[in-house]
Amino acid sequence: MSKESSKKISAAPSWLGLTQDRLSFVFLPNRAETVRKIFQLAIGGMGSYAIANYLDELKVPTFTQSLNWDNATIDSMLRNRATYGEYQPKSFAGGHKRGIPSGHPISGYYPAVIDKTTFDAAQAARQQNLAHRGRKGNDLANIFGDLCLCAYCGSKVIFHRISNVQVLVCEQVLSDGACSRSAWTYKDFEITVLAFLAHPALLGQAGDELKAGLLDLVQEIKGLSSDQERRYARRVNITVLLKRIVAGLVIHSAGNLSLPRHSSAQIRKDITGRFLEIQLQGGPSYPCISIG
Ligand SMILES: [Zn+2]
Repeated sequence: MSKESSKKISAAPSWLGLTQDRLSFVFLPNRAETVRKIFQLAIGGMGSYAIANYLDELKVPTFTQSLNWDNATIDSMLRNRATYGEYQPKSFAGGHKRGIPSGHPISGYYPAVIDKTTFDAAQAARQQNLAHRGRKGNDLANIFGDLCLCAYCGSKVIFHRISNVQVLVCEQVLSDGACSRSAWTYKDFEITVLAFLAHPALLGQAGDELKAGLLDLVQEIKGLSSDQERRYARRVNITVLLKRIVAGLVIHSAGNLSLPRHSSAQIRKDITGRFLEIQLQGGPSYPCISIG
């Protein structure tokens, strides 16, 4: 084997290119930007299926001949330490097809497209996402994710269907625990919260960081009604932005209630007087009544 050929690189991660002589990597800015977007969406709580749909809807080119993104590609990219430049030497002894890690990882081997902090944040978000929604869960049915809490008992308020109507209801109620058997129609809730967050008066009171997120949110909400084609991508962006802007949503689904309703009672929807408290990230908390 000549000295030169031993230095040649056999393969590069899909988001990097190789020079003609195959001696070094080429950084591809457009692909790097796509990888960064994928990590950003994962950190925002999106699963790999939702990310694939998002990229397809916006017609973001894949890194192969394939016309569409698939979730397995995105999953393996999100786990790949080469994204922040690390190379793990592998041994193929004993007929291992994919190789097994051998020796210490080498940092700075590949041109990094993200940093290690971003990589770690994505791993944490994926763990949380899998625990809450399962692998194939529809991330966009409830754009509030796990932000909703019950004002009466402190449990999570979760997305549920009652006779085919989508509602938010305290998880204690679904497990026959002692809490108010009242639910908030999801559609009404979403309209109420988004209208509150998009209100100009809120912008005036927000600090710089929050303001930037709120301005982006307003753009996406406006776009939802004017641009039907990018509806999915806009809801993905809104979901990610909500996580940045909102610390929690405390739901009083039966208004000012002192005693829980009896545990055999039927679940009542959209009780007059229902309201929520919107807690902003690093900021104050606001009461908000249904506009439905
Ligand atoms: Zn409750």
